Amino acid sequence: MSETSLDYDLVVVGSGAAGLSAAVTAAYHGLKVCIVEKDEVMGGATAWSGGWMWVPRNTLAQRAGIHEDIDTVRTYLRHELGDRYDAARIDAFLEAAPQMVSFFETHTALQFADCGAPSTNTMCMPVRAKTRALGEARRPTIASRATQRSGPTPVSPRSMRAPTTP
Ligand SMILES: Cc1cc2nc3c(=O)[nH]c(=O)nc-3n(C[C@H](O)[C@H](O)[C@H](O)COP(=O)(O)OP(=O)(O)OC[C@H]3O[C@@H](n4cnc5c(N)ncnc54)[C@H](O)[C@@H]3O)c2cc1C
Repeated sequence: MSETSLDYDLVVVGSGAAGLSAAVTAAYHGLKVCIVEKDEVMGGATAWSGGWMWVPRNTLAQRAGIHEDIDTVRTYLRHELGDRYDAARIDAFLEAAPQMVSFFETHTALQFADCGAPSTNTMCMPVRAKTRALGEARRPTIASRATQRSGPTPVSPRSMRAPTTP
């Protein structure tokens, strides 16, 4: 059996939104990243999802002039979560989620749109993009067997510079 040696700063297991977000962020900061995916295609449940994200106090909302009181959001979550309310986790979410939207909007080709909910702009979703813009990186998402043949998908800052419009 032949052995292949691979050298990466970060290995991300799973290519859903969580894994890819971590991978892109790390690559943006200069790390050499490898994404390992057990499935034949990338995307996980994320690829099936509606893509609606509840991101309180996100930049789209702020641009639309909607400034939510953070304590109102906390109160809402306290009511929804009851005993499962974890203050540290909630605060981490409230701090990081809007930063995530800003980061992707500013530094990557991924753009978001407000979902047009009547009373709030805190729901947003990715703007539809043609995968052709991803170039070579598009291949593992559609050519299922090719993923296994070609091995792990390296992500580099260079591969992130896909044009916003194909
Ligand atoms: C039909 C549908 C609609 C949805 N709509 C919404 C919505 O509108 N808004 C919303 O917020 N949420 C929605 N969700 C939920 C949302 O999709 C998930 O919560 C989210 O995608 C989870 O992301 P993730 O990155 O954690 O996991 P995933 O996207 O599932 O990614 C995990 C990846 O890890 C891989 N993996 C697992 N174990 C290993 C391993 N040992 N080695 C290598 N790879 C591994 C999996 O194959 C998978 O690709 C929806 C879900 C479904 C099914």
